[in-house]
Amino acid sequence: MSAAPKLSDDMNIETALKDGHVPSLMMALVHLTGDTSHLEGSRPVYDFFGDGNGGIAPETQAAIRAAVKDAYLAWEAGKPLPPQPSDETIRKMMDFIAGVDIPENYITFLKEELGLGANDTREVKWESPKLKDAAQKMKVLVIGAGMSGILTGIRLQQAGVPFEIIEKNPDFGGTWFENAYPGCRVDNPNHLYSYSFEPNHDWPQHFSTQGVLHGYFKRTAEKYGLRKYVRFETKVEEAVFDEKTSLWNVKVTGKDGKTETLTANAVISAVGQLNQPKLPEIKGRDSFKGPAFHTARWRKDVDLTGKRVAVIGTGATAFQVIPEIAAKVKHLTVFQRSAPWLGPTPDYHADVPAGKKWLLEHLPFYDKWYRFYLFWSMTDGILEAVRVDPTWNQTKESVSPANAMLRELLVMKMKEQVPERPDLIAKVVPDYPFGTKRSVRDNGVYLAALARPNVDLVTDGIEEIVPEGIKTKDGKLHEADVIIYGTGFYASDFLRTFKIVGRSGEELHERWKGDARAYLGMTIPGFPNFFTIYGPNTNIVVNGSIIFFSEASVRYIVNCLKYLAETGAKTMEPKKDVHDAFNAKVDEANKGFAWGLPDAKSWYKNQFGRVSQNWPFRLVDYWNATVKPDPKDFVVS
Ligand code: NAP
Repeated sequence: MSAAPKLSDDMNIETALKDGHVPSLMMALVHLTGDTSHLEGSRPVYDFFGDGNGGIAPETQAAIRAAVKDAYLAWEAGKPLPPQPSDETIRKMMDFIAGVDIPENYITFLKEELGLGANDTREVKWESPKLKDAAQKMKVLVIGAGMSGILTGIRLQQAGVPFEIIEKNPDFGGTWFENAYPGCRVDNPNHLYSYSFEPNHDWPQHFSTQGVLHGYFKRTAEKYGLRKYVRFETKVEEAVFDEKTSLWNVKVTGKDGKTETLTANAVISAVGQLNQPKLPEIKGRDSFKGPAFHTARWRKDVDLTGKRVAVIGTGATAFQVIPEIAAKVKHLTVFQRSAPWLGPTPDYHADVPAGKKWLLEHLPFYDKWYRFYLFWSMTDGILEAVRVDPTWNQTKESVSPANAMLRELLVMKMKEQVPERPDLIAKVVPDYPFGTKRSVRDNGVYLAALARPNVDLVTDGIEEIVPEGIKTKDGKLHEADVIIYGTGFYASDFLRTFKIVGRSGEELHERWKGDARAYLGMTIPGFPNFFTIYGPNTNIVVNGSIIFFSEASVRYIVNCLKYLAETGAKTMEPKKDVHDAFNAKVDEANKGFAWGLPDAKSWYKNQFGRVSQNWPFRLVDYWNATVKPDPKDFVVS
């Protein structure tokens, strides 16, 4: 960063600073002045319900803002920035903004994530002529042009590896293209839920809406010129490995219905986990006489105004839909099987203040540290709140003293929202420990919607669906004109939409028999050069953004291809014992978390009760495991 941009007429540093995240401003101050004396004072102390400024005293906040203003104006007037802080200072800064002494084994990982030295710390560079030549001789097929598929395309392009992306939809965006239900928005802060190398300083909201997210991913794909590599409206039917040629033959059907077989050295699936809508097996489901649809197949042609609407489900999706439609419908009946935990998030629907956008764009290094703060605040510390303490015996409601305390706080916050409705509270307080299922971000609109006079929350189980509506087990008929299924996805049915035939003609789903497993979520014995992103056991529950996982996975996969290019080997697949040992470790570790308890029920588990979705370790462990493949883990031929 050399010259300061001109201040706009309607914003200046002083106004902008009012909207600044103070710990991040303190980091920017070090970059502007080289002065670290303010890092010697007390560190921020964050708590679950705080404003993010870590309890820094108002007078200290004011002094910091004043110092940043002076330093910024001096820089703007031409004073050069001091040399970059030393490694030791950066370490101090990390500890300060985190509010804790960060363990040494996180530092390399966190420095990469912080990315002070480069815009893209994970950029792929295959520089030697030998590698460049080998890259050009490869052909890779990527399935899916959503968040992970776009990322894969960007990295393969950087590597110089020819590739094609097959996408069933007519546009980029995956889940952000498909989920167009009212209220759809991200529940991970946007300044973190974005590619590390493509920051957006202009997110309109902290948790932006679907259209904004779709726009971001589409824009990024276009920026990297990916459109020319994508076959839209094309479905992969099957991928078959040919032992003689060591190539994959991938049968695809285009929008004209014509089928074609493409060949590739490697196939990378980026099809996601949460996009095959699951309709519940409820008796009489097809007998309903009105419109009935899944949230991921929202019917824009069905006007809900003045209708009697039934919503089945109260997961992350229904939770977002309900407040959006409650005021416009005549009557809303919400069918809840289990209540979600609500995580207080006052700024969930709030606009990003103009001053904050300005700081992100103009104040040197503020954006990097703000992202770092968000990254750290969602990282492994919070995992401890959902870890089972074996000495704690209240497992029906909590899994540890910290988990029990969190429960109390969350229940208190719920009660504060609807003090006049103890009947509602009795229904919406979950009867399972926090962390068992995915919790949701709450700013009060959900309980306010449920408390409306035209809304009923029904907790008696559903008996059957009849032409007029939904009958509950107590014999009551809840009449409805429209049924909306917020009933989730076939999450544990990985790669459900196409056949994958590996060595010796073995089909992957027949191998898995509903119990999907992979090595590091990405590779499978007997399926050479077949890779999956967001595969088995790579879902994160409380600690972090799935984009971080995708970036780590894509790096690993591209490094596998690099290994093939470097060695001249044709294929690689994980050794069975390595794969099995990894899965045994994962299974054991998952038992140690709330979501892994025998009674826990959620989409994190498959039909056999195995946690097939979640990564039960720390983020740093996934990072370490995926920086590059260990050739010893693979059968290479
Ligand atoms: P979900 O979490 O699987 O929720 C499905 C809901 O339907 C649950 O309340 C479930 O009850 C209920 N249900 C299922 N079958 C039923 C039946 N036969 N009878 C009555 N109720 C039934 O699905 P989702 O809400 O679509 O969310 C899936 C995941 O997508 C989320 O966990 C999240 O990872 C992601 N997502 C993210 C966002 C975001 O970032 N903003 C938004 C939406 C979704 P039980 O709980 O009792 O099973």
